[in-house]
Amino acid sequence: MAVELLISPPATGKTETSIQRIITLQKNQPFAKIWVVVPDRLQTVAFRRRLAHAGGILGTQVGRFNDLFKNILEENGIFVPRATYPLTHHLIKGVVDQAVQAGEIPYYEGLQDFPGFIQILRESFTELKRALVGPPRLIEYVQDGTPGQRELALLYQHYQTRLQTLQYADEEDINNLTVRKLQDKSITCQEIELLVVDGFDSFTGAQFAVLQLLANQVKTLLITFPGDCSSKRPAHHRFEKPIQRLLAEFNPTLLPANTKTHLPPAISHIETHLFNNEESAPIPVKDPILLEARSPADEVREVLRWVKKLVLRQQVPISDCVIFTPNPNTYHPLLRLFAEELGVHLRFTLDESLDNSPPITAIINLLSLPLKKFNTHHLINSLRSPYFNFALQPETIDMLEMISRIGQIVEGQDQWQETFARLIDSTEEEHANLDDERNSPKLPRGQSASQIKLQLDAIFQLLTPPAQFLTQAEWIHWLEDLLDQLDFYTRSDNDRDRTATQVFRDVLRSLVLVESVIGFKQVSYESFINDFFSTLQSKGAHEPFQRNQPELLIARLTEARGVRYKAVAILGLSEGSFPANEQPDPFLDETIRHDLGLEPRLNREQAGLYYQAVTRADQFLLITRPYLSSDGEIWEESPYWSATKKLFDSSAVVRVDPDQPLPLIDTASTQELLFEAVRTRKLPRRYDFLLDRWQNLQQVREVLHARRSKEVKGPYEGDLTPVSDAVNQHYSPDAIWSASRLETYSNCPYQFFVSNLLELEARELPKLGLDSRQLGSMLHKILENTYLHADDRNDPASLLATLEKECDQEFANAPTTYGFRPSVLWQIEQEQLRDKLRETITVLAQQTNWTPTHFEAKFGLGSEPPLAIDLQQERIKIRGVIDRIDRNPEGDLRVIDYKSGSSHLAANDLKLGYRLQLPVYALAARDALQLGNVIDGFYWKIQQAEAGSLRLERFSNDDVKGIEVAFKTLLQHLERILAGIRSADFPPQPPQGGCPSYCPAAQWCWRYTPGW
Ligand code: SF4
Repeated sequence: MAVELLISPPATGKTETSIQRIITLQKNQPFAKIWVVVPDRLQTVAFRRRLAHAGGILGTQVGRFNDLFKNILEENGIFVPRATYPLTHHLIKGVVDQAVQAGEIPYYEGLQDFPGFIQILRESFTELKRALVGPPRLIEYVQDGTPGQRELALLYQHYQTRLQTLQYADEEDINNLTVRKLQDKSITCQEIELLVVDGFDSFTGAQFAVLQLLANQVKTLLITFPGDCSSKRPAHHRFEKPIQRLLAEFNPTLLPANTKTHLPPAISHIETHLFNNEESAPIPVKDPILLEARSPADEVREVLRWVKKLVLRQQVPISDCVIFTPNPNTYHPLLRLFAEELGVHLRFTLDESLDNSPPITAIINLLSLPLKKFNTHHLINSLRSPYFNFALQPETIDMLEMISRIGQIVEGQDQWQETFARLIDSTEEEHANLDDERNSPKLPRGQSASQIKLQLDAIFQLLTPPAQFLTQAEWIHWLEDLLDQLDFYTRSDNDRDRTATQVFRDVLRSLVLVESVIGFKQVSYESFINDFFSTLQSKGAHEPFQRNQPELLIARLTEARGVRYKAVAILGLSEGSFPANEQPDPFLDETIRHDLGLEPRLNREQAGLYYQAVTRADQFLLITRPYLSSDGEIWEESPYWSATKKLFDSSAVVRVDPDQPLPLIDTASTQELLFEAVRTRKLPRRYDFLLDRWQNLQQVREVLHARRSKEVKGPYEGDLTPVSDAVNQHYSPDAIWSASRLETYSNCPYQFFVSNLLELEARELPKLGLDSRQLGSMLHKILENTYLHADDRNDPASLLATLEKECDQEFANAPTTYGFRPSVLWQIEQEQLRDKLRETITVLAQQTNWTPTHFEAKFGLGSEPPLAIDLQQERIKIRGVIDRIDRNPEGDLRVIDYKSGSSHLAANDLKLGYRLQLPVYALAARDALQLGNVIDGFYWKIQQAEAGSLRLERFSNDDVKGIEVAFKTLLQHLERILAGIRSADFPPQPPQGGCPSYCPAAQWCWRYTPGW
């Protein structure tokens, strides 16, 4: 029943004193029962390891307060079933649902279905229990409180009642039960000879109460605590109150404290002078301890490089190093990323939320599909997920995506069924690449559409849950079955994924158990999924334990106590990052916390935390901060950084400039080494084994350099001269060109290369309504048939009457013919199109001098001869379809090309070479089809019912006017285009007015200029 207290600054051997005390006791009393209590699992492992090294682990138990209490209860024959995480989660969710149903919590009702709400309630209940505040005390306290406080107390009471009815206890209940039983003396722990409480830098009210009880039971209670009994240093504020309370309430024997630290000079200087009211002279240091990097990413890279250097050059075991982070959300992903590159294995003390793990995200997406009516975007993502095997070829998934785009399938099996019905019924042949108006994407038809449909039907059947209500166990059985069929459990190929899937399986198992505890209830799929997701979202997955694999520990700054390390790095010492901006708890405010003895959320003495963190280092310390914020602004120093900087001269601070080359000797990964070697253009001979990769990177450097230069030239800018033979073979002199293909080169040679030589297509997002190619094909067809079938092509009334019939027929068949799924606007669209077509017919019929004579006149297709034009170097052959040819009474001709769009139809577009179709068609009518003399031609904008401004008869260039000038201009462009293609020159050249959105290269092209 003796209480001993050892108070001394960090690094003065408190843990060592505790260990020696244990060893001495074991020598004198080999069977003495000894317990060591530390704050967390991290310290449990560290204390055990040190004790084992000292030879005292046998017979000594090390753990947290919870472990001690559980042990005391079991030693006294009390075994309480412990509620698992899913069970407590379901109980809290259950009491919230019931309270909402009973109208008891109108204030919180709106939060009922938020998984975060259940998590916050759980944390609030835990905090209350830790402070030994039961539901009756809280209810009494909040009688006159806010509605939120009263409802929180009510939910707490319901939860506790439910737990007790089931005769389960959560972790905190076990603590409280032990306290109660120790208080009423129904149990004892008097056989404990020595209880050591080490590594704490604060105690909650409940922990003080527990220590009081234990002090009366165990033979000796030894408490170690950081600080100084008489210190008024701000660095020690955090420890002041607990020390006063320990001295006042325990009347302890104060053990002589060693005040001399074993720290190296720089760290010892910090320990002595940081946050000290007395001024100290700045001292120099051998190596910088304050490192500024441009961004958190650079900071992480520098810190990992520092650790790796210590491990390799100073032989510091990596397990003796730690990185403390103030903000896991910012730093953990970066640490994962760079550690992989640097070959450093990490171990995080903070569990990763299960729903952040890629395989679990994939499952959540998959199971959400039936609730989102099989949203097409999510469905295609699931089909492509590497975690599921749907037994589909990648090309089939691509095709499904294409069908969904053309068919405008946004969601729902019915939309797929409708689209497939049309494709299966249709035998529509795909058009060749005639021109940009009639170039429909290739969709499966008939039998091949039917086969794809069968595969998709099987997937829908697999993913569609039973319609009836089932118990949780039955739903989980269905789910396990589904995942087995998709090979989910065999497709994880790394430790992180495997751990996540293992935890996922454990959650499934415990959910089955939960139901057997709380009772069976049949629920809908939606209700099961909501419950299931909310359990997953609040469940964490431990980092995989790498056996025989040294690991670098990543901990939060709040965990920086108790354990000592050879090397410590602390990240994020910039304004607002650390010290963190403190926020009050909206559920348990500061007044409640103060009155009921809970830990405060504000004024948490973060300076004390920082002091603890910097003094964890026995040999090496590095404190870092980012100096630029994400928007490129200067990021101010944290006051703690400034306070540390003041203690040293300029030798302590280093600012890393990422633009400065790093000596190869200091690089920490092969990637870094290669990067620096490429930057300096030298790879020393000893790295010859990296020669291939270095050469590749050199090439990449050249590519980047070329792309960044203003001048467009060279092999990375479309100059394919070395392979010009292959290009010329591909486009042999016998090749027959289309006008639109030639226009593409003229618009931008690189676009021609990408779309014609590489045959890449732009991936368009599905949008409502017909796409431009479907619309173009349909309008062309209607106009052709109207003129073909009208009794009198010169009689507007006859033409308009025929137009109505043709519209009726084409519109009725359009969904099947073109493979799209009519939207709700389809009827209205039909009327609008009909109006525009009527206008077109009427306006064109007013030009009474011209009679339409030919429609869809093909040249270079089927048995029709192509247009052949003699250029300087070669004879070019061109094919195409002329929409319409009119003849006047003199027998002269004009060509008309219908356009469903309206852009780039001006005279200047022919001058620039962007539009060549019209003079090509005029020449084709004259020379290939030999229909007569062509004197005019124009584009007709169907939707505007007007001609484009390019008229061949009026075309002028260099003050000369007429159709012959247009032909001459065409020939000049053809010379240029053919010469470019023959010399395999495909430079990216954004057209005037910018790049077209449909350019397949627009996604990556470094010369992209926004435009049409
Ligand atoms: S994005 Fe512009 S510059 Fe690049 S290939 Fe396409 S059209 Fe040419």
